[in-house]
Amino acid sequence: MCHIAPVPAAPDVVVIGAGVVGAACAWHAARAGLRVTVVDRGPVASGTTGAGEGNILVSDKPAGPELELALLSARLWSDLAAELGGFEHHDKGGLVVAASESAHQNLLDTGLGQQAAGVTATPVAPDDLPGYEPHLAGDLAGGMYYPQDAQVQPMLAAARMLADARGHGGAELRTGVQVTGLLRDGERVVGVDTTSGSIPAAAVVNAAGTWGGQVAELAGVHLPVLPRRGFVLVTEPVPVLVRHKVYAAEYVSDVASADAGLHTSPVVEGTDAGPILIGSSRERVGFDRSMPAEILRTLAAAAVRLFPVLARVNVIRAYRGFRPYCPDHLPVIGPDPRAPGLWHACGHEGAGVCLAAATGHVIAASLAGRSTEVDLVPFRPERFG
Ligand SMILES: Cc1cc2nc3c(=O)[nH]c(=O)nc-3n(C[C@H](O)[C@H](O)[C@H](O)COP(=O)(O)OP(=O)(O)OC[C@H]3O[C@@H](n4cnc5c(N)ncnc54)[C@H](O)[C@@H]3O)c2cc1C
Repeated sequence: MCHIAPVPAAPDVVVIGAGVVGAACAWHAARAGLRVTVVDRGPVASGTTGAGEGNILVSDKPAGPELELALLSARLWSDLAAELGGFEHHDKGGLVVAASESAHQNLLDTGLGQQAAGVTATPVAPDDLPGYEPHLAGDLAGGMYYPQDAQVQPMLAAARMLADARGHGGAELRTGVQVTGLLRDGERVVGVDTTSGSIPAAAVVNAAGTWGGQVAELAGVHLPVLPRRGFVLVTEPVPVLVRHKVYAAEYVSDVASADAGLHTSPVVEGTDAGPILIGSSRERVGFDRSMPAEILRTLAAAAVRLFPVLARVNVIRAYRGFRPYCPDHLPVIGPDPRAPGLWHACGHEGAGVCLAAATGHVIAASLAGRSTEVDLVPFRPERFG
């Protein structure tokens, strides 16, 4: 007897990249009823998603389009945690602290603009800081508390969304498969060529993170996504010493800087498993994978200045990742009019985990031809000229 295997139907959409952003696009698209195939050249979360932290921050974003997206994303992450769970979502709140009176004044000014944009930001007097963080240094000028800041474990979050998209949404996940080209019908992108054959699809989503510019090139369009290197120190597991996401006020200007040189500012947070994560550094040195001890020492010393108790805690390892940096610090989200059929969801720099939920939500709406509640114009792919 001859058995003829059924030919699988072509997906409506191929998502390139199984990081947290691609996973969120796949989850929301599957929820919208689309047939989805996710393709990654490595395992799930093998890009920057597996090499960063998992903060969902509204506190580090001034009023503007990125903050609007972050506020939507923070709400969607909470909804997703309630529905799916299993990825260590904590509404832990963020505490930004200032070492000088001028930095404190800047914090208060930024907070006013953020409050007008819908952020809850509560000024914290120096005497009240120990009530938030008992182990903080005693000589700080004040702070600002942001209860909407939260945290997830990004690798678990990506894996959970993909598992659910497969289990309930019928999505297909193909790892170890590299996209090498895009199928074209005239100008239109109609699928992908891969190391395991071609996959025709009505739409393709470029969620290739720091490699988003390379995928765009396959379509003959330019996206200036560059790597911005960052290191994280991981301590031995300790009882709870740090309750919130805590960082120094200078972190905000470091994030916003367009300078390629090294910027460091202390960022400290606890995790479910006990280790404390210490960041953060930013520099544009291409994909240089070296780990200069000097930078790691600088990060450790800055964290000890913020939390002197950390001087007695051992660092057990360090890792690095390459944030997908765009020159205007905004991600690229939406359809590309230069290559119809191609959508982009990449270039989120140091906020890809935070912005993933909203990115997936608006990409799915756009794919389904629905309007999005966030204006995508500031994120349009063709803005770079
Ligand atoms: C040190 C550090 C700390 C960070 N901390 C935070 C934080 O606290 N909060 C936050 O929001 N963000 C943080 N980030 C940034 C965040 O990690 C990234 O913005 C986010 O992970 C990007 O996710 P992504 O899915 O877009 O990209 P990635 O996770 O890089 O996924 C892209 C995927 O595309 C695949 N791919 C690429 N090209 C191809 C191809 N041709 N074919 C097939 N597959 C391909 C790659 O293998 C990869 O898996 C941090 C980053 C670093 C480095």
